[in-house]
Amino acid sequence: MFSEKNLIRVREGNKKPVLEEGEYILYWIRANRRLAWNHCLDYSIHLSQKFKKPLIILESIMMDFEWSSPRLHTFLLEGLCDTIEEAEKSGFAFWPFVETPDKRLKDHIPSILERAALVVTDDFPCFFLPEHAEKLAEDLKCKLLLVDSNSITPLASYEQTFYYSRVIRPRLHDRFAESYVLHSDPKPKSKGLPDPRNISKPDFLFSGRKEEIPEYIQKMKCKYPDVLPFPGRIGGRKEGLRLLKQFVKTSLSHYSKERSEPRPPDTMKASSLSPYLHFGMISVEEIVTAVLDSDPKVEWSPDFLNHSYRGKNEGFFHPDPNVNSFLDELLTWRELGYLLFYRSPSFRKDLSILPDWAKQSLLLHSSDKREYLYTKEELENANTHDPIWNAAQKELVLTGSMQNYLRMLWGKKVIEWTSSPEEAFAILEDLNHKYAYDGRDPNSYTGILWCFGAFDRPWFPERAVLGNIRYMSSESTAKKFKLKPYLEYIKGLEEGSEPGLFA
Ligand SMILES: Cc1cc2nc3c(=O)[nH]c(=O)nc-3n(C[C@H](O)[C@H](O)[C@H](O)COP(=O)(O)OP(=O)(O)OC[C@H]3O[C@@H](n4cnc5c(N)ncnc54)[C@H](O)[C@@H]3O)c2cc1C
Repeated sequence: MFSEKNLIRVREGNKKPVLEEGEYILYWIRANRRLAWNHCLDYSIHLSQKFKKPLIILESIMMDFEWSSPRLHTFLLEGLCDTIEEAEKSGFAFWPFVETPDKRLKDHIPSILERAALVVTDDFPCFFLPEHAEKLAEDLKCKLLLVDSNSITPLASYEQTFYYSRVIRPRLHDRFAESYVLHSDPKPKSKGLPDPRNISKPDFLFSGRKEEIPEYIQKMKCKYPDVLPFPGRIGGRKEGLRLLKQFVKTSLSHYSKERSEPRPPDTMKASSLSPYLHFGMISVEEIVTAVLDSDPKVEWSPDFLNHSYRGKNEGFFHPDPNVNSFLDELLTWRELGYLLFYRSPSFRKDLSILPDWAKQSLLLHSSDKREYLYTKEELENANTHDPIWNAAQKELVLTGSMQNYLRMLWGKKVIEWTSSPEEAFAILEDLNHKYAYDGRDPNSYTGILWCFGAFDRPWFPERAVLGNIRYMSSESTAKKFKLKPYLEYIKGLEEGSEPGLFA
């Protein structure tokens, strides 16, 4: 039963009617690539019951979106195979579509859309998805509804955008108990829904066989054919859930002290869940639940929330500092970015969102002499004087990941080593989105823009180039952490990679 209180998550994409002659309610998965813990699916089930029409779930993978590559396509296709399996088990009518040059989305999907009485889709506020939803709203004959299943709190419940974690945090804490209780269904059921068996299935759907993935990857045109999958990174919900389980079991208890340590993946204490979150293969709500239930001796309930810590980044959710620290990243920091986009959905955000002090400081120092100046190509090839920066860049290129602390250092240095903040931003956006599995996300922009002073305060002393923007250095990173195992790991990766890749 979809709670009325969750209607705040639903918005109308257009003012068109629900078509009586329509054969089904269509849920088009464009972002939340999962059949559990998903408010969009819950609402679609509710509509199927209300209008007494079968529910069809369509998931599509577009071919040549910006920054597309075999790396991202493989991750998505592996995920799609998991969803097909999940649909078979739970009995949902699931139509997977993969775009190839001989099977274009624009030529095939309209035949599915025009048979719908009503279309529901994910309200993802960033990248090409907002514009795509707008176009869809115009093209459809029937009503389009968009549902926000981006986080634990409904993003529409916030009255405005916030530019500081300390401002959103108390508001998030106020909303947490109710949102936690109103979470989406962990195991939605198809039983009892109008029977979809009489609905004819299109003949151009993806088979769901994993063996076919390489053939599809060959066929699918993409922007960056040379950006290949990293064998250690498997896409899909199953792998996301496995990583979550492993994180809760072995890393959560070290999170607050060790999450920032750059380490090889097998000893790292962060969760590595960001790609699965980005592609909607796992939900924030189930991660929150797993983490709050991590202590078998405690049956966690909202009564455990410690309201005397309202607005603080420790002590609020749980007595365990690791749980608080993790939830502060997953909720406060993640929601800051999602809210920024949700309140004005767009492909990207840029330097115009910086606070005035940061804009002025960068302007004042725009003609400062740069100690090092690198071209985009030199940066992409990890060809700088700084071995730590080079290692981080190589990790990004080779594995599609970079640990959070290094990501901050990585961004800061590009500002120092390029001729303008605008050039630095364009390079960071491009490299992040091209190589990172979790790129093209609201968090990408929160992270990159944080390097330029967004969501932060002025720092002193004022320095060349960065002005009052927080400064970070490789020297202090080397003093702060034992980097040897990490640097050796990257060296090993590089030795195993294609010769000349970083020439
Ligand atoms: C320059 C730069 C670029 C970044 N680009 C991205 C990006 O493209 N995609 C992306 O998801 N994150 C990005 N981040 C934020 C952060 O680095 C990653 O979310 C985090 O490293 C993901 O690793 P994890 O899943 O192991 O995180 P964990 O530490 O295990 O945290 C769990 C989850 O909390 C959220 N989270 C953690 N740290 C942050 C943070 N600082 N800001 C916002 N959310 C956070 C993420 O969803 C993450 O998956 C960027 C940060 C910087 C400085």
